[in-house]
Amino acid sequence: QIPTGQPAFTKRKVPGVKHLIAVGSGKGGVGKSTVAANLALALAKLGYRVGLLDADIYGPSVPTLLGLKGTRATVNERNRIVPAEKFGIKVLSIGFMLPSEDTPVIWRGPMLMKALTQFLFDVDWGELDYLILDLPPGTGDVQLTLAQNVDISGAVVVTTPQDVALADVKKATSMFKEVQIPVLGVIENMAYFICPSDSQKYYIFGKGKTAEFASAYGLKILGSIPIDPEVSERSDKGEPIVVENPESEVAKAFYGIARIV
Ligand code: ADP
Repeated sequence: QIPTGQPAFTKRKVPGVKHLIAVGSGKGGVGKSTVAANLALALAKLGYRVGLLDADIYGPSVPTLLGLKGTRATVNERNRIVPAEKFGIKVLSIGFMLPSEDTPVIWRGPMLMKALTQFLFDVDWGELDYLILDLPPGTGDVQLTLAQNVDISGAVVVTTPQDVALADVKKATSMFKEVQIPVLGVIENMAYFICPSDSQKYYIFGKGKTAEFASAYGLKILGSIPIDPEVSERSDKGEPIVVENPESEVAKAFYGIARIV
Protein backbone atom coordinates (compact mmCIF):
# COMPACT_ATOMS: atom_id res chain seq x y z
CA GLN A 1 0.00 0.00 0.00
CA ILE A 2 2.94 2.32 0.27
CA PRO A 3 3.08 4.16 -3.05
CA THR A 4 6.84 4.33 -3.21
CA GLY A 5 7.69 1.61 -5.68
CA GLN A 6 10.09 0.29 -3.04
CA PRO A 7 9.87 -3.00 -1.21
CA ALA A 8 7.98 -2.95 2.09
CA PHE A 9 10.00 -2.12 5.21
CA THR A 10 12.70 -0.21 3.41
CA LYS A 11 12.86 2.87 5.55
CA ARG A 12 12.62 5.97 3.38
CA LYS A 13 14.31 9.19 4.34
CA VAL A 14 12.34 12.42 4.01
CA PRO A 15 14.46 14.48 1.58
CA GLY A 16 15.91 17.70 2.99
CA VAL A 17 15.15 16.73 6.61
CA LYS A 18 18.15 16.23 8.90
CA HIS A 19 16.33 14.90 11.97
CA LEU A 20 12.86 13.39 11.93
CA ILE A 21 11.67 13.13 15.51
CA ALA A 22 8.48 11.23 16.32
CA VAL A 23 6.47 12.28 19.36
CA GLY A 24 4.39 9.43 20.70
CA SER A 25 2.44 8.53 23.81
CA GLY A 26 1.05 5.38 25.33
CA LYS A 27 -2.40 6.89 25.68
CA GLY A 28 -4.39 9.97 24.66
CA GLY A 29 -4.81 13.13 26.68
CA VAL A 30 -1.33 13.27 28.21
CA GLY A 31 -0.38 16.39 26.24
CA LYS A 32 1.43 14.77 23.30
CA SER A 33 0.27 17.37 20.75
CA THR A 34 0.93 20.25 23.14
CA VAL A 35 4.45 18.93 23.65
CA ALA A 36 5.05 18.31 19.92
CA ALA A 37 3.96 21.85 18.98
CA ASN A 38 5.83 23.64 21.77
CA LEU A 39 8.96 21.57 21.24
CA ALA A 40 8.90 22.45 17.53
CA LEU A 41 8.50 26.14 18.37
CA ALA A 42 11.25 26.05 21.01
CA LEU A 43 13.64 24.48 18.46
CA ALA A 44 12.74 27.23 15.98
CA LYS A 45 13.42 29.93 18.60
CA LEU A 46 16.85 28.35 19.14
CA GLY A 47 17.53 29.05 15.47
CA TYR A 48 16.79 25.71 13.81
CA ARG A 49 14.68 25.28 10.68
CA VAL A 50 11.67 23.31 11.85
CA GLY A 51 8.60 21.59 10.48
CA LEU A 52 5.67 20.08 12.38
CA LEU A 53 3.58 17.29 10.94
CA ASP A 54 0.38 16.47 12.80
CA ALA A 55 -0.42 12.85 11.99
CA ASP A 56 -2.81 12.42 14.92
CA ILE A 57 -5.70 11.01 12.93
CA TYR A 58 -7.89 10.57 16.01
CA GLY A 59 -7.82 14.22 16.94
CA PRO A 60 -5.61 16.55 14.93
CA SER A 61 -5.19 19.43 17.39
CA VAL A 62 -2.26 21.29 15.85
CA PRO A 63 -4.58 23.61 13.81
CA THR A 64 -6.16 24.79 17.08
CA LEU A 65 -2.88 24.94 19.00
CA LEU A 66 -1.25 27.17 16.39
CA GLY A 67 -4.29 29.24 15.37
CA LEU A 68 -4.55 27.54 11.98
CA LYS A 69 -8.15 26.36 12.16
CA GLY A 70 -9.82 26.39 8.77
CA THR A 71 -6.48 26.06 6.89
CA ARG A 72 -6.72 23.69 3.94
CA ALA A 73 -3.89 21.84 2.21
CA THR A 74 -2.78 23.41 -1.06
CA VAL A 75 -0.64 22.01 -3.84
CA ASN A 76 1.93 23.98 -5.87
CA GLU A 77 2.69 23.89 -9.61
CA ARG A 78 5.10 20.99 -9.08
CA ASN A 79 2.25 19.01 -7.51
CA ARG A 80 3.81 19.22 -4.04
CA ILE A 81 1.80 19.91 -0.90
CA VAL A 82 2.64 23.32 0.53
CA PRO A 83 2.83 23.46 4.33
CA ALA A 84 1.36 26.41 6.22
CA GLU A 85 3.83 28.72 7.99
CA LYS A 86 3.19 30.00 11.48
CA PHE A 87 5.45 31.34 14.23
CA GLY A 88 8.47 30.59 12.03
CA ILE A 89 7.77 26.87 11.48
CA LYS A 90 6.27 24.91 8.60
CA VAL A 91 3.09 23.13 9.59
CA LEU A 92 1.01 20.41 8.05
CA SER A 93 -1.90 18.68 9.76
CA ILE A 94 -4.13 15.83 8.77
CA GLY A 95 -6.83 18.31 9.86
CA PHE A 96 -6.00 20.42 6.76
CA MET A 97 -7.35 17.53 4.66
CA LEU A 98 -10.73 17.23 6.37
CA PRO A 99 -13.83 19.05 5.09
CA SER A 100 -14.60 20.47 8.54
CA GLU A 101 -13.45 20.54 12.17
CA ASP A 102 -15.94 17.93 13.28
CA THR A 103 -15.29 15.42 10.52
CA PRO A 104 -13.58 12.32 11.87
CA VAL A 105 -10.96 10.57 9.76
CA ILE A 106 -12.83 7.53 8.44
CA TRP A 107 -10.31 6.43 5.82
CA ARG A 108 -9.47 2.78 5.82
CA GLY A 109 -5.93 1.57 6.51
CA PRO A 110 -4.43 1.66 3.00
CA MET A 111 -5.91 5.05 2.17
CA LEU A 112 -4.79 6.47 5.47
CA MET A 113 -1.28 5.20 4.97
CA LYS A 114 -1.24 6.68 1.50
CA ALA A 115 -2.30 10.06 2.88
CA LEU A 116 0.28 9.95 5.66
CA THR A 117 3.03 8.86 3.29
CA GLN A 118 2.15 11.78 1.01
CA PHE A 119 2.22 14.08 4.01
CA LEU A 120 5.82 13.15 4.60
CA PHE A 121 7.21 12.70 1.12
CA ASP A 122 5.12 14.78 -1.30
CA VAL A 123 5.54 17.99 0.64
CA ASP A 124 7.64 21.04 -0.06
CA TRP A 125 9.33 20.94 3.34
CA GLY A 126 12.45 22.57 1.95
CA GLU A 127 15.59 22.13 4.04
CA LEU A 128 14.79 21.38 7.68
CA ASP A 129 16.97 20.69 10.69
CA TYR A 130 14.04 19.09 12.51
CA LEU A 131 10.73 17.66 11.40
CA ILE A 132 8.58 16.89 14.44
CA LEU A 133 6.03 14.16 13.81
CA ASP A 134 3.02 14.19 16.12
CA LEU A 135 1.88 10.55 16.06
CA PRO A 136 -1.54 9.25 17.07
CA PRO A 137 -1.57 8.01 20.68
CA GLY A 138 -0.89 4.36 21.41
CA THR A 139 0.70 1.63 19.36
CA GLY A 140 -1.74 0.96 16.53
CA ASP A 141 -1.23 0.13 12.88
CA VAL A 142 -0.54 3.68 11.78
CA GLN A 143 2.32 4.16 14.21
CA LEU A 144 3.77 0.76 13.41
CA THR A 145 3.54 1.16 9.63
CA LEU A 146 5.07 4.63 9.75
CA ALA A 147 7.82 3.41 12.05
CA GLN A 148 8.61 0.52 9.71
CA ASN A 149 8.60 2.53 6.51
CA VAL A 150 10.01 5.91 7.40
CA ASP A 151 13.55 6.69 8.47
CA ILE A 152 12.80 8.23 11.87
CA SER A 153 15.90 9.54 13.68
CA GLY A 154 14.47 9.16 17.17
CA ALA A 155 11.32 9.06 19.22
CA VAL A 156 10.24 10.83 22.36
CA VAL A 157 7.41 9.49 24.48
CA VAL A 158 5.15 11.85 26.40
CA THR A 159 3.55 10.75 29.64
CA THR A 160 2.00 12.09 32.82
CA PRO A 161 3.24 10.70 36.14
CA GLN A 162 0.11 8.57 36.64
CA ASP A 163 0.46 4.80 36.83
CA VAL A 164 -2.04 4.25 34.01
CA ALA A 165 -0.05 6.50 31.68
CA LEU A 166 3.29 5.02 32.68
CA ALA A 167 2.09 1.47 32.08
CA ASP A 168 1.33 2.43 28.48
CA VAL A 169 4.70 4.12 28.00
CA LYS A 170 6.26 0.68 28.27
CA LYS A 171 4.24 -0.48 25.25
CA ALA A 172 5.10 2.61 23.22
CA THR A 173 8.83 2.36 23.92
CA SER A 174 8.81 -1.37 23.15
CA MET A 175 7.20 -0.63 19.80
CA PHE A 176 9.88 1.89 18.85
CA LYS A 177 12.66 -0.44 19.96
CA GLU A 178 11.18 -3.30 17.96
CA VAL A 179 11.33 -1.25 14.76
CA GLN A 180 14.81 0.02 15.57
CA ILE A 181 13.94 3.61 16.30
CA PRO A 182 16.08 4.99 19.11
CA VAL A 183 13.99 6.22 22.03
CA LEU A 184 15.57 9.57 22.92
CA GLY A 185 13.70 9.68 26.18
CA VAL A 186 10.53 10.43 28.06
CA ILE A 187 8.93 13.82 28.57
CA GLU A 188 7.00 14.03 31.79
CA ASN A 189 4.05 16.38 31.28
CA MET A 190 1.81 17.79 34.02
CA ALA A 191 4.60 16.78 36.40
CA TYR A 192 3.73 19.30 39.13
CA PHE A 193 1.75 22.44 39.82
CA ILE A 194 3.40 25.64 40.99
CA CYS A 195 0.99 27.29 43.38
CA PRO A 196 0.78 31.01 42.57
CA SER A 197 0.26 31.99 46.22
CA ASP A 198 3.27 30.23 47.77
CA SER A 199 5.38 29.31 44.67
CA GLN A 200 5.66 25.76 46.02
CA LYS A 201 5.65 22.76 43.70
CA TYR A 202 2.75 20.37 44.25
CA TYR A 203 3.13 16.92 42.70
CA ILE A 204 -0.51 16.33 41.87
CA PHE A 205 -0.06 12.98 40.13
CA GLY A 206 2.69 11.75 42.44
CA LYS A 207 6.37 12.55 42.80
CA GLY A 208 9.25 10.47 41.53
CA LYS A 209 7.13 7.86 39.75
CA THR A 210 8.34 8.77 36.27
CA ALA A 211 11.97 8.76 37.39
CA GLU A 212 11.52 5.35 39.02
CA PHE A 213 9.85 4.03 35.91
CA ALA A 214 12.47 5.51 33.59
CA SER A 215 15.39 4.06 35.49
CA ALA A 216 13.72 0.64 35.61
CA TYR A 217 13.51 0.61 31.82
CA GLY A 218 16.77 2.39 31.09
CA LEU A 219 15.04 5.48 29.71
CA LYS A 220 16.18 9.05 30.01
CA ILE A 221 13.82 11.79 31.22
CA LEU A 222 14.31 14.67 28.79
CA GLY A 223 12.35 17.10 30.92
CA SER A 224 9.44 17.68 33.27
CA ILE A 225 6.75 20.17 32.36
CA PRO A 226 4.50 21.67 35.01
CA ILE A 227 0.73 21.66 34.76
CA ASP A 228 -0.40 25.24 34.25
CA PRO A 229 -3.87 26.50 33.29
CA GLU A 230 -2.14 29.06 31.05
CA VAL A 231 -1.13 26.17 28.75
CA SER A 232 -4.65 25.00 28.05
CA GLU A 233 -6.11 28.52 27.90
CA ARG A 234 -3.51 29.68 25.39
CA SER A 235 -3.66 26.41 23.43
CA ASP A 236 -7.38 26.85 22.88
CA LYS A 237 -6.74 30.36 21.55
CA GLY A 238 -3.92 29.35 19.23
CA GLU A 239 -1.29 31.13 21.32
CA PRO A 240 1.44 28.59 22.13
CA ILE A 241 3.01 29.30 25.50
CA VAL A 242 6.59 28.94 24.25
CA VAL A 243 6.04 31.93 21.94
CA GLU A 244 3.61 33.98 24.00
CA ASN A 245 5.18 33.62 27.46
CA PRO A 246 8.78 32.48 27.01
CA GLU A 247 9.65 33.39 30.62
CA SER A 248 7.08 30.98 32.09
CA GLU A 249 8.23 27.80 33.82
CA VAL A 250 6.47 25.75 31.14
CA ALA A 251 8.28 27.53 28.31
CA LYS A 252 11.63 27.22 30.11
CA ALA A 253 11.05 23.48 30.44
CA PHE A 254 10.45 23.24 26.68
CA TYR A 255 13.59 25.25 25.90
CA GLY A 256 15.54 22.91 28.16
CA ILE A 257 14.26 19.89 26.23
CA ALA A 258 14.89 21.55 22.84
CA ARG A 259 18.54 22.05 23.80
CA ILE A 260 19.09 18.32 24.37
CA VAL A 261 17.03 16.48 21.74
P1 ADP B 1 -2.82 14.52 23.55
O1 ADP B 1 -2.21 15.02 22.28
O2 ADP B 1 -1.91 13.63 24.34
O3 ADP B 1 -4.19 13.94 23.39
P2 ADP B 1 -3.18 17.34 24.18
O4 ADP B 1 -1.87 17.94 23.83
O5 ADP B 1 -4.32 17.54 23.24
O6 ADP B 1 -3.01 15.79 24.52
O7 ADP B 1 -3.55 17.87 25.64
C1 ADP B 1 -4.74 17.45 26.30
C2 ADP B 1 -5.29 18.64 27.11
O8 ADP B 1 -4.41 18.93 28.19
C3 ADP B 1 -5.41 19.92 26.30
O9 ADP B 1 -6.55 20.60 26.72
C4 ADP B 1 -4.16 20.70 26.67
O10 ADP B 1 -4.33 22.10 26.55
C5 ADP B 1 -3.97 20.29 28.12
N1 ADP B 1 -2.55 20.32 28.55
C6 ADP B 1 -1.51 19.67 27.98
N2 ADP B 1 -0.37 19.91 28.67
C7 ADP B 1 -0.70 20.74 29.69
C8 ADP B 1 0.03 21.36 30.77
N3 ADP B 1 1.33 21.15 30.92
N4 ADP B 1 -0.65 22.16 31.63
C9 ADP B 1 -1.98 22.36 31.47
N5 ADP B 1 -2.74 21.82 30.50
C10 ADP B 1 -2.10 21.01 29.62
